[in-house]
Amino acid sequence: TPQVECPPDVEQLGRATWTFLHTTAAYYPEKPTPTQRANMLSLLRSLPVLYPCSWCASHLKDNMASRPPDVSGRLGLSRWLCEQHNDVNERLGKERFDCSKTDERWKDGPSDGSCD
Ligand code: FAD
Repeated sequence: TPQVECPPDVEQLGRATWTFLHTTAAYYPEKPTPTQRANMLSLLRSLPVLYPCSWCASHLKDNMASRPPDVSGRLGLSRWLCEQHNDVNERLGKERFDCSKTDERWKDGPSDGSCD
């Protein structure tokens, strides 16, 4: 009998969303056009309004107010997102992630080629 697929809980939704956000940041241009910057800013600013976990959205809103998104280029954006994610990790009692490893995790894979 086929297994039914359940709606995502906060954990699954979070993993899917972080995957999307970190991967999109990893492939964001080094020198984005004004249009690309404006769209990235809209995407990020929409999260505290639309993200379907109300307490997550509310924390994010406060964090983004004290540390505005850096959409100047892929390195700045990847770093900013890593720090946002680390704020959540810290709040949930999870380990902080080493932000120098975002490209390895989300774009290039480890240098031993095990993900190729
Ligand atoms: P996740 O935290 O989902 O991480 C997925 C993978 O990302 C990890 O396996 C790791 O390889 C990598 N990673 C981890 N940290 C970083 C980093 N700093 N930079 C780059 N890569 C990293 N849950 C709540 O219970 N309360 C909340 O308030 C809450 N707020 C959230 C706000 C947002 C915007 C999002 C997207 C999610 C939020 N979540 C919240 C969900 C939570 O962050 C996790 O996604 C969820 O608990 C599942 O955790 P996980 O351990 O599977 O890995």
